Amino acid sequence: MTEIEYIILYKDVKNACVRIISSTKVGLTVPLNYTQDKIAALLAQKQSWIDKKLILMAQREEAAAIYPDIFPLLGENYKVIFQNGLLNSVRFDSQKLHLYTGIKLDTPESRAWIYKLRAQKYLKPRAYYTGFKDGFPLKKVIIRGQKHKWGTCSSRGNISLNWKLMMAPEYVVDYIIAHELMHLRYMNHGLEYKRELRKYFLRTEEAETWLKAHGNLLKMY
Ligand SMILES: [Zn+2]
Repeated sequence: MTEIEYIILYKDVKNACVRIISSTKVGLTVPLNYTQDKIAALLAQKQSWIDKKLILMAQREEAAAIYPDIFPLLGENYKVIFQNGLLNSVRFDSQKLHLYTGIKLDTPESRAWIYKLRAQKYLKPRAYYTGFKDGFPLKKVIIRGQKHKWGTCSSRGNISLNWKLMMAPEYVVDYIIAHELMHLRYMNHGLEYKRELRKYFLRTEEAETWLKAHGNLLKMY
């Protein structure tokens, strides 16, 4: 079992609160006059909640971890094969699930530019195609790299898609495209919107579950 670090912050607050910072870090904010005994009692009382959250956090970190030899693309794990001669270029073999590269892919930065390039080539046309084919009042598709959102839409008929979607399986990409396109008809998450989205995109629930479990992908880049 990994050692858990507790970070205790004394503050001018009324009530103590506990929050999970990472899979190995728990933060406590407590009133200024809070005693050690009270802290111990609080932790004991919250123990099962903390344990549950730490496991969940560890699973999320695992899902978002960077492994230099693996490059997730559209739900597939490509094996990274380093080739000196390739310099800055990369080549995907989708049959063998190999990615040939001349640069080491061991940092978020080294990976981000590949995802951004692929996003321009893959996400944009896919969204335009779907939008026009199904009669949504779509004007423009923009690729962005938000930390908190997989996509957005604007009342002017533009939608934005996060290039980090390139890590998600195709049906999840299609869900986000459908989700944003549907906002061009309903500018909210109301009942009518939800009903229409579910009817239009049949794997909505499955995709939302995937996104909930992989939200950390947004923040790691
Ligand atoms: Zn929405």
